[in-house]
Amino acid sequence: MEDVVVIGAGLSGLTAAQVLHQAGYRVVVVDKSRGLGGRLATRRIGSTAIDHGCRYLQLSEDSNHAPSHHSNLGLIADLVAAGILQPWQPESFELGADGELKATATAKLYTASQGMSSIAKALAPGLTIHRQWRATAITPLSQGWQVEGDALGAAGQPRAFTARGLVVAIPAPQAAALVHRAAQASAEVQALLGQLSSVVYDAVITVMAVYGPGALARLPGQTGSGGWLVSSDAHPTWRWVALDSSKRTDPQEPVVVIHSSPAFAANSLDQSDLEPLGQALLAEAATLAAWMLSPRWRQVHRWRYGFVRQALGASLLSNPALPNLVGCGDWCNGGNVEGAIASGHAAAAALDKALSG
Ligand SMILES: Cc1cc2nc3c(=O)[nH]c(=O)nc-3n(C[C@H](O)[C@H](O)[C@H](O)COP(=O)(O)OP(=O)(O)OC[C@H]3O[C@@H](n4cnc5c(N)ncnc54)[C@H](O)[C@@H]3O)c2cc1C
Repeated sequence: MEDVVVIGAGLSGLTAAQVLHQAGYRVVVVDKSRGLGGRLATRRIGSTAIDHGCRYLQLSEDSNHAPSHHSNLGLIADLVAAGILQPWQPESFELGADGELKATATAKLYTASQGMSSIAKALAPGLTIHRQWRATAITPLSQGWQVEGDALGAAGQPRAFTARGLVVAIPAPQAAALVHRAAQASAEVQALLGQLSSVVYDAVITVMAVYGPGALARLPGQTGSGGWLVSSDAHPTWRWVALDSSKRTDPQEPVVVIHSSPAFAANSLDQSDLEPLGQALLAEAATLAAWMLSPRWRQVHRWRYGFVRQALGASLLSNPALPNLVGCGDWCNGGNVEGAIASGHAAAAALDKALSG
């Protein structure tokens, strides 16, 4: 029996796992994906890294503090010191109601030149992680929990783990599906299901577009020749378009990433062919600059659980009657990286209290 199993190797799960590991617990992490990081996601096309999930880490707009003084995002200071994160200073624009681009102040943004998934790798040392292992059921035992699952990758992986404590660090709707079976046997778990069902996510469709090495990937109105980003709260199709390659130290060719609006993604949730959606997003983004319409390569990704619209409103999911089971993630509070880190810390503290008691 392990001390703790953590389901989900996104930022919240890795944070909880690393805190518990450093406190001396034997921790096993499982994740259904091949890579680490969940929505801290980087696609690699040859030597080109593309962030198709989380775009950056950001200090609060009103923060005058250096990263090291900023609560949960103290992680930024550590990652900057380790050479993993660097400040990113694109020219920032907003699309006005008149369709014109308006320059806006650039917030304090930090990105990883090797791709945002390198943040997750920095949190992994020392942890036992089973990748491509999808948890399918959790069952309460007299002294802990059993987690059953499917090994999707390498042969020889265990079919189940047992542990004294369990952290469920996956998006709330996926967590609800997982605890559903256990809920039938326990009123306490049933109560957790009620809390999980209050969380609402917006989907996002993301386009990654790579242009030829000689392409001049500039925006009209841009004063410099470096990176840029455009955001819009009102556009019916997209929310964010940016020159992703400007995050790299030595970009080989321009890369643009486009994130859809929630409405655009919601209308296409049942569509299996994502290509026409990618084409529609590119066509809308190309009204900003016509060269965007014709990339030499493009790929489309759907985030079914992209951004949290309605959070739980607590730092973690818990029930006093089930002290050795906690849930964490960006869906608890905050809906972003900062919330995911805070929730991972809260989950680790709660389990530490339950297991050491
Ligand atoms: C397009 C996009 C852009 C974003 N941009 C920003 C940004 O710029 N700044 C910011 O602060 N936030 C941003 N976010 C949000 C940010 O990425 C998330 O808040 C954060 O990464 C969430 O971390 P998490 O650990 O809660 O969840 P996740 O990252 O979703 O991790 C959950 C993990 O659980 C695994 N999993 C799921 N089900 C199972 C199962 N049954 N068994 C095993 N493993 C399972 C998944 O594979 C995944 O690795 C963005 C999100 C998206 C989608």
